[in-house]
Amino acid sequence: MIPIPYGRQNLDDDDIQAVLNALKSDYLTTGPLVSQFEADFASFIGAEYAAAVSSGTAALHLAILAMDLQPGERVITSPNTFLASANCIAFAGGIPDFCDINASGNMDVESLAAIWDDNTRGVVAVDYAGQPADMMKIAEFVRSKGGFVIEDASHAVGSWFAIDGVKYFTGSHPWADLTTFSFHPVKTITTGEGGMVTTSDTKLADRIKNLRHHGVERDPEKWVQTDASGTGPWYYEMQELGYNYRLTDIQCALGLSQLKKLPRFVEKRRRITQRYNSAFEDMEVMETPHDEAWLQRCDDVEISWHLYSPQFDFEQMRVSRDSVMKQLRTRGVGSQVLYIPVYLQPWYQAKYDYRAGKCPHAEAFYERTLSLPLHSCMTDEDVDFVIEQVREVCGG
Ligand SMILES: *Cc1c(COP(=O)(O)O)cnc(C)c1O
Repeated sequence: MIPIPYGRQNLDDDDIQAVLNALKSDYLTTGPLVSQFEADFASFIGAEYAAAVSSGTAALHLAILAMDLQPGERVITSPNTFLASANCIAFAGGIPDFCDINASGNMDVESLAAIWDDNTRGVVAVDYAGQPADMMKIAEFVRSKGGFVIEDASHAVGSWFAIDGVKYFTGSHPWADLTTFSFHPVKTITTGEGGMVTTSDTKLADRIKNLRHHGVERDPEKWVQTDASGTGPWYYEMQELGYNYRLTDIQCALGLSQLKKLPRFVEKRRRITQRYNSAFEDMEVMETPHDEAWLQRCDDVEISWHLYSPQFDFEQMRVSRDSVMKQLRTRGVGSQVLYIPVYLQPWYQAKYDYRAGKCPHAEAFYERTLSLPLHSCMTDEDVDFVIEQVREVCGG
């Protein structure tokens, strides 16, 4: 039996048809679907500008470059994340450092403030499992120090909160300079590989768009060698070192089609999460995911749940996590451990001399976490099946 995976894409015939139409069009890449995807994405979440890129990792890399990070400068992120949130800092020669997390798995603002120093330039805050980090407090602190704020919202596409009567989606509120998204197949909407950067700053948006295409500036008004600008329509100008981080029209066709379903996917994931929460409420060996405390200050909130990651007391259960995962797998339930604190990776330990004990809450969170299947293809029967298996294996 192939187990129900912890996450997967949800594609229908109309998604496939959209891709086929793109394949039959005049452009396979850098055509009209790229700007349409950017425009529709920006309009859905209420962002002013959006730039499509080839992955969530590329989005983070370009976000860091757009902040002009210099080699040797330090940027702080959360250890409870995928490698890319920290790797992007190292790509630019910066020093990725880590503050501790709160009960919901997001960056803890006090811990951030405690390790800030004069060499720190900014933060990459992560919205773990889809719950927005306390961006208001994070931005207030970081900006008071003159730092930049990047929000890695790879988990949180479609999450929103309302405060003082205004509704903000992640990627559209004023407490991040740049917000990044991923459209990897385990994420809530997919383009195969793909990512997006959103911002309210037109200069930053243009810079990201240039950097994703080798640093080429196409706007004649912004050319540096103005004497060369009159020389012909073939002229283009490379003003800084960029990359090929373009997203194809084929992928944007899929993205446009998926974006239309985002509200439905979010609703489905919310219902599954609720069903899990009530089914596991009475289990002593298990804590259902903790709500982000700061969201209680909001008038209204909707979480686009990317992960369902309860905390288990494996000691009390007298069984290892490894064994639980294997038993679940045999019974047809996939699970995943998200995440190993990034600084415990061999490369980070060797390069930056980071050691176990650095972020005690993140390490304790890691020891107890196990993500159960959560994706919009799951039927009610699938959810009940997972609940039954988990209760049996975990002694509920
Ligand atoms: C998926 C993910 C990324 C990277 O996205 P890719 O599209 O796989 O490059 C970055 N950060 C977080 C938190 C993610 O979950």
